[in-house]
Amino acid sequence: MNFTSGLEQGTPRRDELAANLADVQARITGACWAAGRPSMDVAMVAVSKTWPITDIAMLADLGVADMGENRDQEAAPKAAALPGVRWHFLGALQTNKARRVAAYADVVHSVDRLELVVPLSRGATERGRQVDVLIQIRLADGPGRAGALPAEVPALADAIAAAGGLTLRGVMAVAPLGGHARPAFDRLVAVALALRSDHPQAVIISAGMSSDLEDAVAAGSTLVRVGSALFGRRGPAVG
Ligand SMILES: *Cc1c(COP(=O)(O)O)cnc(C)c1O
Repeated sequence: MNFTSGLEQGTPRRDELAANLADVQARITGACWAAGRPSMDVAMVAVSKTWPITDIAMLADLGVADMGENRDQEAAPKAAALPGVRWHFLGALQTNKARRVAAYADVVHSVDRLELVVPLSRGATERGRQVDVLIQIRLADGPGRAGALPAEVPALADAIAAAGGLTLRGVMAVAPLGGHARPAFDRLVAVALALRSDHPQAVIISAGMSSDLEDAVAAGSTLVRVGSALFGRRGPAVG
C-alpha cells in the first residue's frame, strides 16, 4: 500500500493514466502481433516532458520504469526527485550540456556528432557511471534537421565504443514531418543493421511515437517513445 500524497489508488488522474497506459500497451501488442513479432521485443519509454513529477510518480507506480525528457533544465530536477526511474534523454543536445546530462541520464538517445563524445564520457566517468548511448540518425533532408547522416555513423560509433563510461547500444530517429513514416523507419532499420554488424551489442532501435508507433514496430523498432498518448496533449507553449 502506498499512502504518499498523489499516489492514492482511484484518483481521477491516476485512473486516466492507467487507462491510457493500457491503451498504449494494447497498441504495442497489436502492432507486434500484426508484424509477427513477440511483444517482448518492443519496450516503451514514457515521454514525460512538460508533465509534473506527481504524474510521473503515478505512472512509475503503475509499472512504467523508463521515462524520457528532452531539456536538461527540466530533466535534471526530475531525475533528482525520482532516482528509481530509468531516465532517457531524447532532446537536441548542446555540447556544453552533454557533461551534465551524463551525470543523471541512463540512456542518451540523441548523440549525433563527434563533439558530444568527450563531454558525455567525462560526465559519466567522473560520476562512476556507465551511460547507454544511441546514435540519432537523420531521416529527413534539409538543413537544421537533427541527426547524423548514415555515412557519419561508423566513425561516430567507433568513437562512442572507445570512450570510457559510454556503451553504444543502437540508433534513434524521429520520422520526418508530414507523413510517410514507414519508408523512413525502413531506412533507419537498414542503418541499424549495418551498425550491428560492426558493433553486435548495438541492438536498440528507438523509433515510434504516439502517432506512428505502429509503423515503427512494423519496420523493426525495439523501443517506442510515447508522450501524448499516455499523459495527454501537451500545452501549446512548451514541448
Ligand atoms: C516529445 C517526443 C516524443 C513523444 O512524442 P508524442 O507524440 O507525445 O508521443 C518522442 N520522441 C522525442 C524525441 C520527443 O521529443
